[in-house]
Amino acid sequence: MFPGSDTGSLAGAPAATAVFTAVLTEGPVSRVNLARRLGLSSAAVTKAARPLIDLGYLHEMAATERSGPGAGRPASPLAVRPDREFFLGVKITADELIGVVCDLCAQVRATARRPLTDPDVEAVLTEIGRLTDDLLDAFGGDRSRVRRLGITLSGDVDRTTGLVRYSPFLHWRDVPLGRRAAQSTGFTVTVENDVKALTAAEHWFGEGVGAESFALVTVGTGIGCGLVVNGRLVSGSYGVAGEIGHLAVDATGPDCHCGGRGCVESIAGTDAIVAQVRARTGRPDLGMDEAVALARGGHDEVRAVFTRAGNAIGCGIAAVANLVGPTRIVVSGEGLAAYDLFDSHIRTSFERQAFGAAARCPLSIRPLPFEAWARGAAAVSIQSLVLP
Ligand SMILES: [Zn+2]
Repeated sequence: MFPGSDTGSLAGAPAATAVFTAVLTEGPVSRVNLARRLGLSSAAVTKAARPLIDLGYLHEMAATERSGPGAGRPASPLAVRPDREFFLGVKITADELIGVVCDLCAQVRATARRPLTDPDVEAVLTEIGRLTDDLLDAFGGDRSRVRRLGITLSGDVDRTTGLVRYSPFLHWRDVPLGRRAAQSTGFTVTVENDVKALTAAEHWFGEGVGAESFALVTVGTGIGCGLVVNGRLVSGSYGVAGEIGHLAVDATGPDCHCGGRGCVESIAGTDAIVAQVRARTGRPDLGMDEAVALARGGHDEVRAVFTRAGNAIGCGIAAVANLVGPTRIVVSGEGLAAYDLFDSHIRTSFERQAFGAAARCPLSIRPLPFEAWARGAAAVSIQSLVLP
C-alpha cells in the first residue's frame, strides 16, 4: 500500500483487525457472537471495537436482539457505517479502464470508463487520473471521504510492494505502479492481480463469505482461478497458484501460448474458441459475438467448439475440487456471457471428473460484468483499510 496523503490501515491490534473484518463481512453481529466466534472475551471485543466506533466506522444498533434464550440483557449488534468512507476501484484492460466508487460494504455507488489507446506507463497513469476525476464527478458525494484507490490488472503483481512484475497485454515489466499512481493521484493506492482481487471481493462481500475454503474460476480471454484456503488467499510460494488455465486436459491438444500443450486456456479461452470456430467455418473474419450467434442458431460444428470448451473448464474445476476440496466454487467471467452454451457441459464434465464426495461441491455459474472486476479493485482497497 502506498500512502498518498494518508496513513496506513486502521486496524492496530490483531483483535481489532478480527473484529472489524468480522463485522464488515458478516455483520451486523452481536458482541456475544463476536466473542464466541473469535475466541475473545466480551471485554476484549468491546475494547477492540471502541476506537472503530469513535472513528465512525462501526456503530451499535438498537438493542433488538436477545443474547440467548432466557438471557436478560439485550444485545446491541455491531454494524458497519457504509458511508463512513468510499473507495475507488480501477481495472486496467488492454484497451479500456473500468472504474467504480464503492462504499465500505463494497456496494457500487458510481461507475465510469475511459478508452485506453496507449499502453505506455505515463499515458496509463494520466488516464487513471482522468478516470478518477470522472468517478468523483459521477459519485457526487463528499470527496473528503474518498482517500483510497485500488488498481487491478492481469499478470504477475506483487501486492505488498505494488510492483507489476509482468503484464503481458501492456508489455510492462517491473513497473512500480503503486508508487507511481500514489504520486500522480494523491490517493493511498493498492495494486493487485485482477483475479485475486475478484476472489477477495467474493470472499469478503459475495458468495465466499463464511466459507473456510473457496475457489473462484474466471472464464474469458484467460482462464483464471483464485483460491482461498483456511480463510486466506493462496498466493503460491513462487507467486503462482491455482493456474487452472494451464492445467493440461488434452495431451494431444493445441499448443498454448504458455509453451504447454492442451491447456484449458488453449481450448476454452476466448481467443482459442474464436480460432477453432474460424477453422471449422472457414471464415477468418469471425469474432466471438458471431461465434456465439452461430452456436445459438444451431450450427453443429460451432456448438461442438463450445461443448469442448465447457468440458475443458469442467475438468479444470474438478481438479481444483479434487486437490483442494473447497466449500464452494464460483465460475464467472465475461466469457460467460455465452453462459447458456457452457453451463451444462461444465457441470457434466465436473461431475464426471470430480472424485467421490468432491462432486458434492456446489458450483455457482454466472456471468460477470466488467464493473465487477473494478469492484474487486475497490475491495482490495477496503481490505487495505482493515488489514495491517
Ligand atoms: Zn498454457
